[in-house]
Parts: sequence; C-alpha cells; structure tokens
Amino acid sequence: MEEVDLIIVGGGVVGLACARETARPGRTVCVLERHPRLGTETSTHNSGVIHAGIYYPRGSLKAQLCVEGREALYRFCETHGVPHRRCGKLIVARPEDDDARLLDLLARGRANAVDDLEIVDQAFVARLEPAVAARAALWSPSTGIVETEALVRALHRDASDREAITLPAMPLIGGAVDDGGAWLELRTPAETIRTRAVVNAAGLYADEVSAMLGGASFTIYPCRGEYAELVGVSRGLVTRPVYPLPPLSGEHLGVHVTPTTWGSVMVGPTTRYQADKRDHEADRLPVEAFVEPTRRLLPTIRAQDVRAGGTGIRAKLSPDPAAFSDFLIERDTRQPRLVQAAGIDSPGLTACLAIARRVSTLVDEVLR
Ligand SMILES: Cc1cc2nc3c(=O)[nH]c(=O)nc-3n(C[C@H](O)[C@H](O)[C@H](O)COP(=O)(O)OP(=O)(O)OC[C@H]3O[C@@H](n4cnc5c(N)ncnc54)[C@H](O)[C@@H]3O)c2cc1C
Repeated sequence: MEEVDLIIVGGGVVGLACARETARPGRTVCVLERHPRLGTETSTHNSGVIHAGIYYPRGSLKAQLCVEGREALYRFCETHGVPHRRCGKLIVARPEDDDARLLDLLARGRANAVDDLEIVDQAFVARLEPAVAARAALWSPSTGIVETEALVRALHRDASDREAITLPAMPLIGGAVDDGGAWLELRTPAETIRTRAVVNAAGLYADEVSAMLGGASFTIYPCRGEYAELVGVSRGLVTRPVYPLPPLSGEHLGVHVTPTTWGSVMVGPTTRYQADKRDHEADRLPVEAFVEPTRRLLPTIRAQDVRAGGTGIRAKLSPDPAAFSDFLIERDTRQPRLVQAAGIDSPGLTACLAIARRVSTLVDEVLR
C-alpha cells in the first residue's frame, strides 16, 4: 500500500493552493481530484472577482482571509502570469437609496482594514463609467478581476514544481483509521493510500468527505447562482465591476455586472438554494429576469442585449440566505488527522492563498 504524509481531497483553487503551501522537501503531498480535470467545479464557475473585503463581519475568517488573500493573489498573478486587472469596483446608490447605507458599507470595509474606500459623487462615476446610473457610489480601488481557469493552471503548475502530486480522476470513496489512529487509509477505485494527515477541500462535497473519514458532522447546502451575459456592443458599456447596494434582505451582494479579463460581461449571480449539488440547469430563470436588474445599473440596456450565461453552485454552511456563515478552517474535533477547509463560498477564490496558509499551520501540527 502507498504511504504518503498528506492527502488533500479536492483539486479546486483551495486544494491546489493548500498543495503548494504545504509541499516541502521530504514531505509527500498528494491531491485527489475526482474529475479528469482540475478546478472544473466552483473554482471556474464564479464571478472571478478579487474582492476587497468590504462585506463580511469584523473579525470573521472571511474578512481576515479576504484582505490577506487578495494581496497575496495579486502578487501570485503577477509572478505567475495569470491574467488579472486591479480595476476597482463601484457600489452604486440610486436616487432612492439612503446615504446611510453607503456610509454603513464604508464603515464595515474600514473595520475590516480595507483602508482605500471612498464615497464618490455622480461626476466621479460618470468619469469612470459613463453608462452607469448613480447618484453616488462607494469606490473600492483594490477590487479586481482574474481569469479563473488560468489561476487553476498556475496553482497546479506551482504545486507540481514544489513536488506535490496531483491525481485527477481519482475520487475518494471511503476511509478507515489504522494502527490506533497513527494512519488514515483512504480508498479510491484504483488503490488504498495510507496517510498521516488529510485536508478536506472537497467544496460542495466536504460534508460527505468529512463523514467518510470519521470527521465532524456538518451539512453543505448547495446554493445556485445563475448568470446572464451582455452581447454585442453593450459589452463595451462597463470596464469594471459595478454592484448595486446589497439587498436589505440578506447576505448576497445583489445582481451585478462584471467584465471578464477576456472581454465578456457577466450579469448575476442570482441566489437559489436547491437540493441537488450537481444540477446547474433545471428550472433556469428566463433571461428576461436579468433585464430589469441590469437596467438599474445600465439604463440603456435593452432586452436583446442580454442572453443566458453560466451558473455556479455555492457551498454554504447555512440554509438561511440571510444568515452569515463563516469558513470552517480547523483541525477536526473528532478526527485529529483531518484538517477542514469547508464552507468555502465567496470570497473563497480571493482568499484561497490565505486559506492555504492557515491550513498549512494546522497540517504542521498534525504532522509534528
Ligand atoms: C456563483 C458564484 C460566484 C462566486 N464569485 C466569487 C467571486 O467573485 N470571488 C470570490 O472570491 N469567490 C467567489 N465565489 C466563491 C469561489 O468560487 C469558491 O469559494 C471557491 O471556488 C472554492 O474553491 P474550492 O476549491 O473550495 O471548491 P471547488 O472548486 O468546488 O473544488 C472542490 C473540488 O473537490 C472535488 N471533490 C469533491 N469530492 C471529492 C472526492 N470525494 N474525491 C476527490 N475529489 C473530490 C471536486 O470535484 C472539486 O473539484 C463564487 C462562487 C459562486 C458559486
């Protein structure tokens, strides 16, 4: 039977970032990914926004790791040639929106050490984004966009350069404890591998992976986000992410427009909890549902400027759309050889390198 020091379950941005961070001479690190290609689940089905860290409760892991991870991600993208743009973002207030809500966001961001935020007027917005309707806005210069597929490839390359091994098309299907807890045995369809530590970075399936390995019991609630896209010349109407004020109803950020590094413009995502973790397409919203929210930001948009786009499924730790749930990053309470990196919904893309640093410290504890 193969023996390794560390197995990371999941080859998305979190698992791959953990692989490059934990790999070191004399330690065998192995990533199991059930799909034939890396990063094909949530890591490449999202808005591709490098978030500044404005929205999350002060002191939460999301707030800390977003701010820390954002700067680490910009450095990584520069060093590894990953297409990205530090283009800034506008959160716009319409005539009927209360200034208190902009001020509240400004205060929340500052509490999280996002120290470059500014409230700006209509003239400032018009200079940056002439097609956007706004009475005022919160300007976040450190927000950006990144090409997610290129990020996955670069993380994989860097992890491989540090001699972490990735095994695609290799699902974890079961586990057992061996030698009075000194080893975990991880079963795949091809072989059983003995390991001294496991990182659970299985995204939507982190609850199932935790259960397979005798770890803590929790539930991942899949929450679908749907997108539309702007077509034709309307794609030239925005050059940076433009968001509305977050709806008063809850945690999600409101349907926004986000240009990509390759020139398309996404509209969305919406928010809908569903039972199925795999279902990206059933009961899709009609494309018309995106027209009005887009017009609130870009008033000249017509119905024919919008077509259906992709979807992504968030891995949420709470079934309540209005409740805040933090990342779960800890050494497991029931299975001491297991480190959880679960409930990694937004801003997990932004935070992946900072999450990996936390995970790496916990892995060192397990392997000590
Ligand atoms: C609609 C939407 C918009 C978002 N927008 C943003 C954004 O703009 N900015 C941002 O920072 N974040 C955003 N996010 C969040 C971000 O995409 C996620 O936080 C991030 O991709 C999580 O990465 P991951 O590696 O944990 O998950 P995943 O990419 O899902 O990776 C987990 C991997 O584990 C594998 N796996 C599962 N079970 C097993 C098993 N038994 N054996 C082997 N492998 C297994 C899966 O196949 C998968 O590849 C968004 C998310 C969504 C859904």
